[in-house]
Amino acid sequence: MMNNYFIILASGQSKRFNSAKPKQFIKYKNKALFEHSIDKALNSKLFKKIILVINDKKQIKYKYPKNVIVIKGGKERSDSSLLGLKYIKKFKPNNVLIHDAARPNFTIKLLNNLINSLKKNKAIIPVISSKDSIKYKVKNQLFNLKRESSFLTQTPQAFRFNDLYKLSISQKTKIQDEATLFIENNLKVKFIKGENLNTKITFKEDIINTKNYFGIGFDIHRLIKNKKLYLGGIKIPFHSGLKGHSDGDVILHSIIDAILGAMRKKDIGTFFPDNKKQFKNIRSPKMLKPIIEILNRNNFYINNLDINLICEQPKVSKYRNKILKSLSNLLKLDKDLINLKGKTVEKLGLIGKEKAIACEVIVSLNKDD
Ligand code: ZN
Repeated sequence: MMNNYFIILASGQSKRFNSAKPKQFIKYKNKALFEHSIDKALNSKLFKKIILVINDKKQIKYKYPKNVIVIKGGKERSDSSLLGLKYIKKFKPNNVLIHDAARPNFTIKLLNNLINSLKKNKAIIPVISSKDSIKYKVKNQLFNLKRESSFLTQTPQAFRFNDLYKLSISQKTKIQDEATLFIENNLKVKFIKGENLNTKITFKEDIINTKNYFGIGFDIHRLIKNKKLYLGGIKIPFHSGLKGHSDGDVILHSIIDAILGAMRKKDIGTFFPDNKKQFKNIRSPKMLKPIIEILNRNNFYINNLDINLICEQPKVSKYRNKILKSLSNLLKLDKDLINLKGKTVEKLGLIGKEKAIACEVIVSLNKDD
């Protein structure tokens, strides 16, 4: 391991983040923002020591290895950064990377690139081009920044320790990042390609937490003569059909119950009571439609569905593709995300004697909060 040190700045006050908690402590993918940076730095095995500069030590919930050191930060970002540099000076570091805890999405590949570039350069800054056009104002006049000649700087930024330390110690005014020190002193800075996903979490809406929900559905209907058989929204040629207030489509009914279950919205009977005349002989796709509307309205989306159709006859293999195509259409979901299995019951009981067909479904939904 080379003589590399990683300083994580997590002592900001988040003036722009509309929350009682400073943003570096907000949960993102089940971890506080600063924990993402610690874990990534540890996993990279590139650093002798990882320094977490933080003002509220109570936020540290886990025990880290000995090479993770926690120190108290200063008032401004540049104060905290200097405190980190002063702390590591006694270890005589060659290289130091400085990183804002508000960027949890950098990759270990980027860390490697930064450290490799330090062999030939004193200061390395990852940059990306702006996706939006930038204007700036001087007094009352507006100017356009040419997109091809402007870029956005990110962290981690990498430096030879001695050079950065000298500049930091003599800096009198507040600076936005360490690159500024080199640029303002007309020193050479090497820019490397940054990462589009390595954005800074500045506003509350920058954080999207996706939650996963499971739902289960089961249904069974008796088979009777002189009725058409509907499964998965389509007519299947068969000597009997399924008895029920509706068309008795066990697949769609199980799907409806599974989706309602995952959304925690009770069951099919709540939405379609079987004592209501208006639902008499209703086709099941018509029952599914309002349920999908609720799903969309509440920002859920389906990850996948797994279906067990339990019957001796008809054979699922013969109709699988047709049923999947129909379900894909009704759910507006890619066919690859739906699985349909046929299951017999060894000729046992009502289902075995072809007096009934049953179905069970598991659905997984996601919701972005
Ligand atoms: Zn049913």
